[in-house]
Amino acid sequence: MGAKTCSRCLLDTTLTSIRFDEKGVCNYCHSHDSMTAYYRREVARPGAVDKLVLEIKQAGSRKDYDCIVGVSGGVDSSFALYTAQKMGLRPLAVHFDNGWNTDEAVSNIKNITDQLNVDLYTYVVDWQEFRDLQVAFLKASVPCVETPTDVGIHGALMKVAAREGIRYIIGGQSFFTEGTVPREWGYLDGLYIRSVHRQFGTVPLKSFPNVMIGDVLWHTIMNGIRQVPLLNFLDYDKEKAKEELTRVFGWRPYGGNHYENIYSKFAFGWLLPRKFNVDKRKVYLSGPLRAGVISRAKAGELLGIPPDISDNLVAYCIRKLQLSPQDFESIMALPIKSYRDYATSDRYLRPFKFLVKAAVDMGFFTPVLYEKYCR
Ligand SMILES: [Zn+2]
Repeated sequence: MGAKTCSRCLLDTTLTSIRFDEKGVCNYCHSHDSMTAYYRREVARPGAVDKLVLEIKQAGSRKDYDCIVGVSGGVDSSFALYTAQKMGLRPLAVHFDNGWNTDEAVSNIKNITDQLNVDLYTYVVDWQEFRDLQVAFLKASVPCVETPTDVGIHGALMKVAAREGIRYIIGGQSFFTEGTVPREWGYLDGLYIRSVHRQFGTVPLKSFPNVMIGDVLWHTIMNGIRQVPLLNFLDYDKEKAKEELTRVFGWRPYGGNHYENIYSKFAFGWLLPRKFNVDKRKVYLSGPLRAGVISRAKAGELLGIPPDISDNLVAYCIRKLQLSPQDFESIMALPIKSYRDYATSDRYLRPFKFLVKAAVDMGFFTPVLYEKYCR
């Protein structure tokens, strides 16, 4: 039986968690609508964005920085940093270096922080430790191949914020422009990291900034740290942002979404489609499609273009992971698993989803958390 596709976005039944309403519209589109409604409500309050900026300034008034901006060298995070500074904030840029940066990412981060005169802190994770963790996730045979990086970014930002006494973490994530990755394709959780590492890891985790639910609660409640997805509060146009960054900072493009990182390029463009029949571009293109920024025909056309991943890039990644071609072949042949096959925070979080909802309504967490993990 062929895959059934949502009548509004590009997601289809290759996602086992997809559900359709009577009009053939999927649950992820409904999530998109409720997040849109949330941010429309937020922005519609008179002076809402100014008030947020003022709050951030006041919270950091006697400190060296009033916020942290996580930077990857990609469009969204670069633009978030640029915008934060234009709003009069005093950011500390933090980059999580997982050993897979492209030259473009490195030069973009350097150019933008130099020209904005923003301090940059690079959190470098021990390479052997991180490589081992990435291989552990490959052996776990789950499509969540970027969980180590995404949890690492989150953990590094939280740790630096707590250490520096900074209360606001600004991110460039935007569900309008790139959708929200369904949890079965990217479950982000410290307990998941720990359980996969226990089963398949060989190098102890020492420098990896793992973050468990308890840590998130501690930092949120005791340290008052808040995540601010700044671009969701603005009328963010990714193409225009790209042009502006290129003009102002000599920003360099790097191809597809998240291709500023070599491993992401290999994982999203080659590994996921071949082994798991997962094409994350369906998520990234569905964001602008739902928001009416691109047409369905255009989105379909873009999806039809095979990712441009060379054999050399694939061979390079396998070598860098210190896997032999035979090791890698056996990894590719392993039966497919999901995050549900490992210990995660799912069973602790879901029974308390009403509390998560309440915490979102009170502004402790972003609505993406609820939509992604509790729906
Ligand atoms: Zn949909």
